[in-house]
Amino acid sequence: MSETFRVLLLGGTTEARRLAGLLHGEPLHGASLDGRAIHVTTSLAGRVARPVLPPGEVRIGGFGGAEGLSRHLRAHHVDAVIDATHPFAATISRNAVLAAADAHVPLLALRRPSWVPAEGDDWHTVGSLAGAAEALAALRARRVFLTTGRTGLAAFAGLDGPWFLVRSVDAPEPPYPARMETILDRGPFTLDGERELLRRHRVDTVVTKDSGGAATAPKLTAAREAGVRVVVVRRPPAPEGICVAATPDEAVRWVRQLGG
Ligand code: NAP
Repeated sequence: MSETFRVLLLGGTTEARRLAGLLHGEPLHGASLDGRAIHVTTSLAGRVARPVLPPGEVRIGGFGGAEGLSRHLRAHHVDAVIDATHPFAATISRNAVLAAADAHVPLLALRRPSWVPAEGDDWHTVGSLAGAAEALAALRARRVFLTTGRTGLAAFAGLDGPWFLVRSVDAPEPPYPARMETILDRGPFTLDGERELLRRHRVDTVVTKDSGGAATAPKLTAAREAGVRVVVVRRPPAPEGICVAATPDEAVRWVRQLGG
């Protein structure tokens, strides 16, 4: 048996960073893992120029599909895979299921629960970014706070009616809407900050993916308080029939059970 229990964490989210911190090194170094220390390697896609790095080892870049990921699992003697990617990163999640089965490595998906509307919310749920663009036209939105990320801006490029406030980690590249201002920032965001942003820019509509989680939820509360409507893009279907944890702590318990 090797001296370390090797976990490959497919990351790119706040929860993945938190989980890497909980798992890497000493916390599970004990009898439950026959004395083996946990070694976490977080994998990032490489979409963000200067990512916030988690504890443990980090590798960056794609694997080359499910086959490439399966080869990686075998070559690096990975003992467990945790898919802690964003709920909209459907391709890598599907590849993780195929690769883990092929390489006979246990897989857990860490999926933060969907957001649910509260009393006073004015939500318009759509199935895609294209659906969100259609909804903006139908709702006659004038001042839109677009929080769906820089890679999906093309879906809104044809809309010349509304003015857009776009928030993204890195600067957007065309195609994007003609009438647009960009804020470069990354979560977590505060409620006071989101209130101020909606007020200062006189936003009438927020567009968001149903990302779930606490880091980017304050915009929903701020929108509710201000009577601002929200266009919510539904999640793509997640792979079924695999172990799922809703929080990093639950994922830690899953690893303990594997090692025990
Ligand atoms: P995707 O469509 O599911 O994946 C496309 C390809 O990118 C995958 O086939 C894989 O390439 C590579 N990839 C994705 N995640 C990877 C990872 N963690 N490590 C190594 N390779 C990865 O993913 P996406 O929607 O472009 O998102 C990319 C990353 O950004 C994800 O890791 C996700 O957690 C993070 N993120 C996404 C969103 C979003 O809204 N989609 C929001 C916040 C953060 P190969 O096939 O070559 O392996």
